[in-house]
Amino acid sequence: MIEIEFPANNQFVAALIAASLYFLTYVSLVRLLRYWRNWYPPTRSSSLITAGLALATVAFVSFSPHGLSLFALVLAAGFMACLFGIIAAPAIAFLPGAPRPVVEFFAKHGEHAGLWMIPPAILAGYVLPDARLLGMLVTAMAIELAWFLRRKSTERKSYPVDASDLLVLQTQAKGNIESFAKQHSIRELEISPNGGVNWLGCTKNSLPCPLSHYIHRLGLNTPPCCREHIADLRQFVTGCLRDMGAIHWIDGGTLLGAVRENGALLAWEDDIDISVLLDDDTTWETLCDTISQRGSEDGYYVDIFENKTFLTISYDRPQSWPFRWERNRMRGEIRLDLVTYRHATNNGQPVLERQLLKGAMPVMQSGWHGVPKEIILPTSMINFLGSDIPCPNQSEDFLQTLYGDFRTIELTYVDKNAAKTRADIDLEHVN
Ligand SMILES: [Zn+2]
Repeated sequence: MIEIEFPANNQFVAALIAASLYFLTYVSLVRLLRYWRNWYPPTRSSSLITAGLALATVAFVSFSPHGLSLFALVLAAGFMACLFGIIAAPAIAFLPGAPRPVVEFFAKHGEHAGLWMIPPAILAGYVLPDARLLGMLVTAMAIELAWFLRRKSTERKSYPVDASDLLVLQTQAKGNIESFAKQHSIRELEISPNGGVNWLGCTKNSLPCPLSHYIHRLGLNTPPCCREHIADLRQFVTGCLRDMGAIHWIDGGTLLGAVRENGALLAWEDDIDISVLLDDDTTWETLCDTISQRGSEDGYYVDIFENKTFLTISYDRPQSWPFRWERNRMRGEIRLDLVTYRHATNNGQPVLERQLLKGAMPVMQSGWHGVPKEIILPTSMINFLGSDIPCPNQSEDFLQTLYGDFRTIELTYVDKNAAKTRADIDLEHVN
């Protein structure tokens, strides 16, 4: 009798298919993580693709020509669930809200925590030395090792910590900066024997500082390096928009800083908000094409959220495929949100509206959020970070619509206790 050997019966081919399936699932997962980083639930189609690939991987590992192996199923599913939880932790930690100790723990160790799965992988391979399972485990661990090695050597630049940053740091640390840094793994803090404090800041070639953790959880000011990169990013994006002839203006917290802090960033700023008006000359397509192309030329990462009509531009350099989306595993990010507005009418009045809610911007008849056109157009100019930048025509009315009494300091998204601790310093700073 002639036996026909299907490729999947061949041990090597089976291992290779399992490895490929795992790899595809991993790439799909790290791409999905961008939604949490931007505080949005993932789209149904992206979630289904990732879930489908994960199921296909587990099913392929569990089914052999002899049938289903429950043991292999439990091992493969359990291993993937644990590892994917570790991989997703830094992105999930971006979500504001009450602290999540387990997520924060894995987020804190995100550069190497995947390697903690090596002993369970060896154990699983030992108790069930099946080619398919081994193909999956070896691929998973090789990816984790590569992620760790690529992130290990990072170039940093020393910045002196200025008096106001130091005051906030001392207040949050209750006077003991050294033990505070240790407790919260603030690796950037460098304390010299004479008591001088320096910040080993992030660069274009390093991981960004875990900004949202330092600002939202610990109540610290934006680190000096990140402030510098935020200014650089703002310059890059406004340069692109100016060259395109696009009507744009600073929005949200960025406008608030420009108006209330006389052209400075809010001390706890974690991103930049710029808005752009889509019209016959600046379409969604031309905007996306121009920003993407300039981003790849000048070394800025661009992410396009088609269904929400906004883009994010980040300071970190885009990596080549298939490592492009692995950046979503980073704990920090220096980002500019570029939100689009469109012309519309609401109860017969001309308005400018956006899909995404900002502050308390009212809902329009279309279901989007908007303000009367004359509040924004024609745009005016305001000083911001040392140079003039377009702003809404009636900036104060615009801020009033968004935040109500915007002159009152409110540390949005900052942990309540951390905000309370620094309240006195912030009041003093303003008065
Ligand atoms: Zn930094």
